[in-house]
Amino acid sequence: MPHKTTLTNHHADSSICPKEHKYTVTGKPTHPDCPGRAYTRAACTCGWDFQCPGKGYADEERKRHRTTNPKPTPGGPKVLRDLLRLDAE
Ligand SMILES: [Zn+2]
Ligand SMILES: [Zn+2]
Repeated sequence: MPHKTTLTNHHADSSICPKEHKYTVTGKPTHPDCPGRAYTRAACTCGWDFQCPGKGYADEERKRHRTTNPKPTPGGPKVLRDLLRLDAE
């Protein structure tokens, strides 16, 4: 099973905080409907799931999960692996 990871931001009520919800550099939400990001969730198609308040930390864990769980076709063409990696961003 391929490890396809995703990173999503969530409000406190667990609804997704979409990309359209912009933040100021100090982290304040600028969208009128946005109560603010409460946590970031990293998830994988294999069932792995990680949540934490820090977006940077969640992204670190996501990358760590991908590196510690190599793709099922490690001998495949490099260009294909690069495509998969881009797709997961
Ligand atoms: Zn996985
Ligand atoms: Zn939001």
